[in-house]
Amino acid sequence: MNRQKGIVGMVFIQEDLPVTQEGIVPDIVINPHAFPSRQTLGQMCESALGKATAKRGEQLFATPFMPASTVEWITNALHKSGYNGWGTETMYNGFTGKAMEAKIFIGTTFYQRLTHMVQDMIKYRRRGHVHPLTRQPVADRKRHGGVKFGEMERDCLIAHGAAATIQERTFHLSDYHEVHLCRGCKQMAHMGPGRVPICRFCRKGKKAEIVLVEIPYACKLLIQELQSMCISVGLDTEVV
Ligand SMILES: [Zn+2]
Repeated sequence: MNRQKGIVGMVFIQEDLPVTQEGIVPDIVINPHAFPSRQTLGQMCESALGKATAKRGEQLFATPFMPASTVEWITNALHKSGYNGWGTETMYNGFTGKAMEAKIFIGTTFYQRLTHMVQDMIKYRRRGHVHPLTRQPVADRKRHGGVKFGEMERDCLIAHGAAATIQERTFHLSDYHEVHLCRGCKQMAHMGPGRVPICRFCRKGKKAEIVLVEIPYACKLLIQELQSMCISVGLDTEVV
């Protein structure tokens, strides 16, 4: 049910659309490739049978597995209503008025409109909310979230050799963070009195060589979560 959903690709004024000999203009033009992969042949049957019965002003009970749902029955009904073959018709180009070469099927079907409007879907963000725990940008549209830069996007930029762009997207414009590191014990240092970083791990005090490194906040968070489980992660640094 409702498998033949879609997005309006183009809107025409009525006189530009194709027209049958009877002067019937379609409400929707649909690509026939939409049918085999979605296996919605029932809708095709509904449309063909609807066309045959509507022409004669009849009502029909056509539950599946009844005679009225067979191809023979439907084609017979179409022939009785004055159509030949599969009920296809010659249609005339709305722009030129010329008859189109291919015979086209036009019929009735039940359709509902989905309430997917551009105004409700539009999503944009410059700077915005970040998650308080990870400090990474939030995802949700209603919370002014960002558009995900995932693995496949990353792979595209790798393929282009744009390493600096990946660094910018996933670090500088995401959860950029600075931490002080003790080069002796490779642990994160703390801010001591007078805003001087000190290493509380090896307790070398001011003699310890402490450097400032840039790491994602999520990385710092993971290290501390591992520390809470008695796993020590050392960060090796190299002075460039
Ligand atoms: Zn240390």
